[in-house]
Amino acid sequence: MTAPALLTVDLNALSHNFHALEAVTGVPVHPVVKADGYGLGAVAVATRLLAEGARAFFVARRAEGEALRAALGPVPTIYVLDGCVGDAAAALREASLRPVLNHYDQLRAWFGSGGGACGLQIDTGMNRLGFRPEAAPEAFDGLDLVMSHLACADAPVEPMNRRQRDAFAAVAARYPAALKSFANSGGCFLGADFAFDAVRPGICLYGGGPEGRPDPRLKPVATLTAEVLQLRDVPAGESVGYSRGFVADRPRRIATCGAGYADGVLRSQSQVGQVWAAGAPRPILGRVSMDVIAVDVTGADVAVGDRIELFGANRLLDDAATAAGTISYELLTSIRPRVDRLYL
Ligand SMILES: *Cc1c(COP(=O)(O)O)cnc(C)c1O
Repeated sequence: MTAPALLTVDLNALSHNFHALEAVTGVPVHPVVKADGYGLGAVAVATRLLAEGARAFFVARRAEGEALRAALGPVPTIYVLDGCVGDAAAALREASLRPVLNHYDQLRAWFGSGGGACGLQIDTGMNRLGFRPEAAPEAFDGLDLVMSHLACADAPVEPMNRRQRDAFAAVAARYPAALKSFANSGGCFLGADFAFDAVRPGICLYGGGPEGRPDPRLKPVATLTAEVLQLRDVPAGESVGYSRGFVADRPRRIATCGAGYADGVLRSQSQVGQVWAAGAPRPILGRVSMDVIAVDVTGADVAVGDRIELFGANRLLDDAATAAGTISYELLTSIRPRVDRLYL
């Protein structure tokens, strides 16, 4: 028995997207599997990508890297984007994780405890993590990756993209022995001179478009469905859900479906969201509650036990995110542990 809310992950679609990104960039793809593989399950995702030829992965947190190392064994390289935080050096080394060092305290902590293979983040304008180019350290033993991150990669016309790219090329030349990595998902589509030695896509592997809208070059990977728990006919004038969030102007048939905000259906979809049911988009009526949503299935052939799609092949992830006032990344990483996961 699966739970009413079910996340289906199509690993063949994931591998399609991985190879599509290799083809478009012409360089190795080092997948970003932080935040539990954008909510899809980091171990399952990385295991498949390893089998498809991925040789290095990026996570954000050390604990994410430790879990991945335990599952994947000693072969793949795993970089930790947080770097060497506090007294984490020994634990990082113990799990053969490579910190991406972001500032001098991290550099001192890593080398003070013995050093070893690591990366360096250069801040080319994001003003988040990393060394400013003018303050970056000289090349040193153990440095095997130099990287930077785009602030506006989802907007190809944004002039900052090229400014960052040129700044990165200039500083990266000071580290001839290190692998250079610059592009995230959006960056993979900005042109050959953005690819450098390896790219670091996340969202496009998981089916989100590089510009926040559906992209036909990528296949949907994640499908979130909810089971219809009950059907009812609501007469005109009656309301549905908390705070009378929807009042029927005419008789409506309502499907109460088993996914709510405790499953990751963002409450911002109240009144405005849509789902795919019985071959068509259909509105979410009233408030999203903790465990259920109400869907208008008036005139549709829907039965108790059917599944409606919150996003997937029919209701595309980016469209669902836009309707919820957010981005694909947040929809995916909002999926909660209560949701069952099924890998195809
Ligand atoms: C999250 C992240 C990525 C992946 O970004 P996408 O937009 O999902 O491709 C790449 N690099 C860094 C530094 C990141 O934090």
